[in-house]
Amino acid sequence: MKMLIGGSFVGEGLSTINVFNPATGEKVGTAPDGGENEAKAAIDEAYSAFKTWSKKTANERSKALMSWFRKIEEATEELAELMTKEQGKPLKEAKGEIGYANSFIEWYAEEGKRIYGETIPASAANKRIFVQRQAVGVVAAITPWNFPAAMITRKVAPALAAGCTVVVKPAEQTPLTALRLGELAIEAGIPSGVINIVTGDAKTIAEVWQEDSRVRKLTFTGSTEVGKILMEGASKTMKKISLELGGQAPFIVMDDADLDAAVSHFIASKYRNAGQTCVCANRIYVHEDVVDAFSEKAKAAVSELKVGNGLEEGVDLGPLIDEDAVKKVQEHIEDAKDKGAEVVYGGAEADGQFIGPTVLRGVTEEMKCMREETFGPLAPISTFKTEEEVIERANGTPFGLAAYLFTRDIGKAVRLSEELEFGIVGINDGLPSVPQAPFGGFKESGLGREGGHHGMDEFLEVKYISLAF
Ligand code: ADP
Repeated sequence: MKMLIGGSFVGEGLSTINVFNPATGEKVGTAPDGGENEAKAAIDEAYSAFKTWSKKTANERSKALMSWFRKIEEATEELAELMTKEQGKPLKEAKGEIGYANSFIEWYAEEGKRIYGETIPASAANKRIFVQRQAVGVVAAITPWNFPAAMITRKVAPALAAGCTVVVKPAEQTPLTALRLGELAIEAGIPSGVINIVTGDAKTIAEVWQEDSRVRKLTFTGSTEVGKILMEGASKTMKKISLELGGQAPFIVMDDADLDAAVSHFIASKYRNAGQTCVCANRIYVHEDVVDAFSEKAKAAVSELKVGNGLEEGVDLGPLIDEDAVKKVQEHIEDAKDKGAEVVYGGAEADGQFIGPTVLRGVTEEMKCMREETFGPLAPISTFKTEEEVIERANGTPFGLAAYLFTRDIGKAVRLSEELEFGIVGINDGLPSVPQAPFGGFKESGLGREGGHHGMDEFLEVKYISLAF
């Protein structure tokens, strides 16, 4: 496929990046290996398009976004299949992601009509104070491979609705879904230069974007390590930034929880995308009085999960993204076993990039799986005795993205949700992500929010106009 710069599909003559199916190792397609020239050309186009796109009415931008929404909706099957081929997730999850990705476009197409200002009482009779919010300018978006469509629309939809134009660099493992979304945007009539998608070396492209003062906002989803590099780079020209980084989500089951509900949410949260999401349950804390019952139910539920090529009917867990991802899961399992954890289900055996679900018990805080994000289908269960203890252990991480809490006691739900140092708390809910709510982290999980009106603010500057007459 080709890159999208200024409404044209380009990349002829450049070398290419091969995209492989993690389930089969087969080549799925190629993307151009763009560099400095393409990164700069994309900014030129976005900067020029900003002049007209930002002047359109909210209604005009909404109509353009809704026609993109409809194109994506019509192409759901095709996009989902492409995503499964390049990323590995089961087809049903890929379809779910296209719907989720598109829900951001629909929601922000409407929200763009509600970018309200303020009037403030002035300090003199002949003065007036107006506060206006206006598009920040050209936005650079850098996205990861685990949600090849949603991480793009969650950034691009609010940016466009606010009146910004974007330059996007998708992950090198999954550029094809992104490029197809770009083609659909052009077919939908999104004007040239409003969305530009550049593929190629991440560092080279990101450096051009960081250094160019025309880029006024950087939005990123990925590792905390790269997030810190980008934050430093953005400081050179004082860009606005939003960073969605790593997580280490605690999943807390109190002694009064509905265990059947807790287990079904545990399965959804832990094994979605084979455990490769930043909000996946990563540390399972179960009250000591219910740990036997929870572990038994978890084992029964996990044993029903089918591992295989995501294109096959009935598959629940696809392959991991690459061999290193498999190695990390194996290392965490072996480390926990060496330090005394008991295997409830599964184990470290892998078949190529396929590794089945594992549940461990008797896990303690010094094990790697409790300290680092596994990003794979490993569920380490650890027990606790008191509320104070579990809160301290849950908060004892540099990360603060999502936390889950299962209890039927409303007092505990309120108390604990307020104590948890996390940007998202799911109470009896393992799947809280929706377009209208703010998604984002505390501490080293990032800065800023995506989704809802908070997600729109990230692309707007506040202007105070003082009028004397
Ligand atoms: P993951 O571990 O999920 O691959 P990364 O943070 O490495 O997370 O990747 C997320 C995105 O950041 C990808 O698009 C990747 O190409 C990009 N990326 C990786 N390294 C850099 C870098 N040094 N500068 C800018 N972008 C980078």
